[in-house]
Amino acid sequence: MADSLGFDGFVAMLRAAAAKVAGEHETLSRLDSVMGDGDHGTTMRRAMMVGLKAMDNCRSRDVAVLLNDVGWAILGVDGGAAGPLLGTFFIGMSEAAGSRQALDATCLAEMFEGAAAAVRKQTKAQVGDKTMIDALVPAVEALRASARAGEGVSAALAKAAEAAERGAAATSAFRARFGRARNLGDRSIGSPDPGATSVSFLFRGFADAVAAK
Ligand code: ADP
Ligand code: MG
Repeated sequence: MADSLGFDGFVAMLRAAAAKVAGEHETLSRLDSVMGDGDHGTTMRRAMMVGLKAMDNCRSRDVAVLLNDVGWAILGVDGGAAGPLLGTFFIGMSEAAGSRQALDATCLAEMFEGAAAAVRKQTKAQVGDKTMIDALVPAVEALRASARAGEGVSAALAKAAEAAERGAAATSAFRARFGRARNLGDRSIGSPDPGATSVSFLFRGFADAVAAK
């Protein structure tokens, strides 16, 4: 079990998550065709591809610099509400990383808390409003609880992924209060939120990447 990630391990984790989300684009667009305009998979795949390219082009071996480059690249992806929120996520994570390069579960909890806090500055959506917040908030809480319990990186990210998946699944029962799906009113009930599902794939990618170590 990895107890801390260095730069290369962290990059591998980001790359695996980007590949996971991009690989699920059809599922994500299918969910968004029920709930919105059907573009969420395309937007997320594009965001992940520019994020991967930013990693290829990054000359620094500093975690914060890398995350900042990824975040700004994703912010430049046009179309969709989710792109800017995701770019903000990585920029918030970069700011929380500071100068740290050996990332244990406590560091990761702080970084993901910074990411979630940055996203929450951009939207008033709360847990229960049927948005990506429904997966993000429980994932970060589970990661923090695991770190506080002294668990390692693999266990902490596995718990975060499970919490994100539960959070995303729970959105099926909710009525959307933000984004395009809000216009559907009660008809938004019965299918999970696309953005929450993306976040669950992202965390699943993070967790599976470190579980393999
Ligand atoms: P768009 O709705 O502009 O087509 P996407 O389809 O890429 O954008 O993303 C839709 C997802 O973005 C939703 O499923 C939801 O999770 C998230 N989202 C949309 N608006 C908001 C918001 N105001 N706050 C939080 N999340 C939002
Ligand atoms: Mg859409």
